[in-house]
Amino acid sequence: VVSRLRPFGETIFATMTQRAVEAGAINLGQGFPDEDGPRRMLEIASEQILGGNNQYSAGRGDASLRAAVARDHLERFDLEYNPDSEVLITVGATEAITATVLGLVEPGDEVIVLEPYYDAYAAAIALAGATRVAVPLKEVENSWDVDVDKLHAAVTKKTRMIIVNSPHNPTGSVFSKKALKQLAGIARAYDLLVLSDEVYEHLVFDDQKHVSVAKLPGMWDRTVTVSSAAKTFNVTGWKTGWALAPEPLLEAVLKAKQFMSYVGATPFQPAVAHAIEHEQKWVSKMSKGLELKRDILRTALDKAGLKTHDSKGTYFIVADIGDRDGAEFCFELIEKVGVAAIPVQAFVDHPKKWSSKVRFAFCKKEETLREAAERLKGVK
Ligand code: PMP
Ligand code: GLN
Repeated sequence: VVSRLRPFGETIFATMTQRAVEAGAINLGQGFPDEDGPRRMLEIASEQILGGNNQYSAGRGDASLRAAVARDHLERFDLEYNPDSEVLITVGATEAITATVLGLVEPGDEVIVLEPYYDAYAAAIALAGATRVAVPLKEVENSWDVDVDKLHAAVTKKTRMIIVNSPHNPTGSVFSKKALKQLAGIARAYDLLVLSDEVYEHLVFDDQKHVSVAKLPGMWDRTVTVSSAAKTFNVTGWKTGWALAPEPLLEAVLKAKQFMSYVGATPFQPAVAHAIEHEQKWVSKMSKGLELKRDILRTALDKAGLKTHDSKGTYFIVADIGDRDGAEFCFELIEKVGVAAIPVQAFVDHPKKWSSKVRFAFCKKEETLREAAERLKGVK
């Protein structure tokens, strides 16, 4: 393994899912839903396959999906992207993230990530030969927000990009508009690019509204926004995502992406285009349903004596396990209780600060969550 990749082991998701399967545990570790997306979307994908849409798509992705993504951003955020030059379909948000970093960050540049951060950011930065600078989030009212002062202090002459992700995996926090505006101010002042990972854009709870970073003053020009069908339409296995950015930035992302996969799977793309155009009610209902699921799991964790933080979005909730170590706790939880979770430590550069935090996913059927609740009574 090359030195750039040597620090990386198997992803925590693969490790924990494997353990959960072996032990017959309920998997509240890796975040994937156990119910299918909208029926008509699934039918369209099958029809596309049987109807012969099985060869390479256009280089930037299926035109109907690019048009749907662009129209959706115009409608929801009043953000204008040209579907022919400013929208790129990718192999999940993951490829969009890696291609953005590879296309826009030079070796030796610094990229700021907000800790805890999704693991793929670290790998993308390493592959680009750049340096990761992790700025911990700050705890605010039982949740987390951007620590704007620390972020400001972390900027150097070498800083090229900030990666931000709200709603935030793994904490379930939704960053305040005030903090995001301040982050935007820093990006403008130091002429930085922002990669905004908005894969959980539809999964915000309790009547909050998602803030798209590109919409903040002066940000459209310098932001690459990334999202995907995975979380919005319950199709994590379709690996269909996208990047939106002004043309000069998107060209750079495309340059990298074209040699990573050339294009993604063709037949899923018209199906996702249909879903974006016609299944928004399904999405709202699913997102609303997640609030109930969150509450079931939260009550169970609280009853088990694990102090929970607020989950304002995503499908994750973080519990505090006191003075135990999160990684040890998670392995034990699988063996003794039969429930899998993810230690937040897996997403950080400062493990001491986060060692007592454990992430649980609640994107599971109610009956599964109730069974997990029963099992969690066995936590001591
Ligand atoms: N970003 C975040 C914050 C995620 O949680 C995930 C996980 N699904 C991804 C990106 C990757 O998305 P995709 O499965 O579409 O590649
Ligand atoms: N995004 C999902 C999570 O955070 C899983 C992604 C993965 O398995 N790489 O749990």
